[in-house]
Amino acid sequence: MTAEPPVEWDSVLAFARALDEAGEPGHAAAALADPLRTLDPATAGPDGDVIAAAMLYATLAKPALDRVPDAIAWARYARTAAERLHGGDDPATVTATEVLALVLARRGRFQEADELRRLLIRRHRDRGDIDAQHLAQMDLAVQWHMAGRCGEAVREATVVWQQWTTRHDPAEEASVPMVWQLATLLHACGRVGEAQAVVAAADPEHPGGSEPRAETYLELMASIATAVLRHQRVCVHHLDHDFDRADPSVAGWRPR
Ligand SMILES: [Zn+2]
Repeated sequence: MTAEPPVEWDSVLAFARALDEAGEPGHAAAALADPLRTLDPATAGPDGDVIAAAMLYATLAKPALDRVPDAIAWARYARTAAERLHGGDDPATVTATEVLALVLARRGRFQEADELRRLLIRRHRDRGDIDAQHLAQMDLAVQWHMAGRCGEAVREATVVWQQWTTRHDPAEEASVPMVWQLATLLHACGRVGEAQAVVAAADPEHPGGSEPRAETYLELMASIATAVLRHQRVCVHHLDHDFDRADPSVAGWRPR
């Protein structure tokens, strides 16, 4: 058997990103899977290109189809390798930690995912980066919501939004992700009036306004629509209905 040629990660990454941007996430994951199979996430050395490939693969791989290569193992590799290369507080390590939390949460491993989010919140707080701390707290609330902990999630997200608005104008650009996440949680739980009130308070311009704002608004609406469909399977307001509560494709939620 001849040795395989070294992987040209630059072109693999460019190809996968192009496929993802073209709306082909499954093909993008497949393009990354082959070269990742030539490595072992437990022993691969820290390398910026492999970290980028591992994070993109872990984000794109469908929970049901990712046993080989293992998305969680590769997301763990990315986090450990980024920390070794850059240290725990570096933005690259923070991003890799967020990816690992997302990948774990999507597969229903909420306890581990919550621990990672709490670690990020502590690190931001210890550094005195209050904005990053609030954004990370909102991410934790979103994760609880994925797990069907609707009431706690909305309460926490509302508190975080109130804290955020003591430091920021609700209508400023930096507030958009916060408005987006809180409105999506409320909307997905069927609390439409409250969601509209949050969006109205932030006063984003409607389509027809300046181009970036219109795009933001349309993206917000699309994300809310998707979130509503996904969340119905776990939402406490819908659990009396006949939804398939054990469907592993929906954030891996299982009845205990
Ligand atoms: Zn809900």
